[in-house]
Amino acid sequence: MSHRAYVAIGTNLGDRPSNYRGAVAKIGELDGTRITRMSSLYESEPLGKARNWFLNGVVEIATELECKQLLKALQKIEDSMGRRRDPKKKSVSRMMDLDILFFDNEIMSGRTLKVPHPELQNRRFVLLPLSELAPGFVHPTLGTSVSALLATTPDKKKVIVFKGS
Ligand code: ATP
Ligand code: CA
Ligand code: CA
Repeated sequence: MSHRAYVAIGTNLGDRPSNYRGAVAKIGELDGTRITRMSSLYESEPLGKARNWFLNGVVEIATELECKQLLKALQKIEDSMGRRRDPKKKSVSRMMDLDILFFDNEIMSGRTLKVPHPELQNRRFVLLPLSELAPGFVHPTLGTSVSALLATTPDKKKVIVFKGS
């Protein structure tokens, strides 16, 4: 069965546009998976311990993979792009971060996989690109549309349209 999912892409190290394009290409090459739509690219102020601005965006995919398989496949892509994994350190600088935002209307709350992504409503850099693709999508636990989440997010950090290539 084909599933629709939204994946957040973030990179703040190295050649960010090239990292971004590389990740999109690799996601599109996953088994039974194709990219159906892509948001614009945005730059966002670093959060947590990161220093460099992030390049962020969201892709919509159609995939035959199940949610857990998708997470594993995305982690492989992160690893192949030079991601170093440290489970204790979140929001650090990285070449590539791929997070599953929504996976159909599934709700998962396991230790290694939480869907919808628990922080999406608190992140302008996620909501802005997501609202380009799915403004009317209703968050399955909050019961609020993406556009309403964007309008009410407490996140005041800067997110600007990326003007580079
Ligand atoms: P955040 O999840 O708050 O954006 P992060 O992306 O910096 O933080 P990571 O170090 O990339 O966190 O990931 C930590 C773990 O989060 C991963 O090992 C993965 O198992 C888990 N995880 C849980 N839910 C998700 C999800 N929806 N998408 C991606 N990873 C998830
Ligand atoms: Ca993340
Ligand atoms: Ca992540």
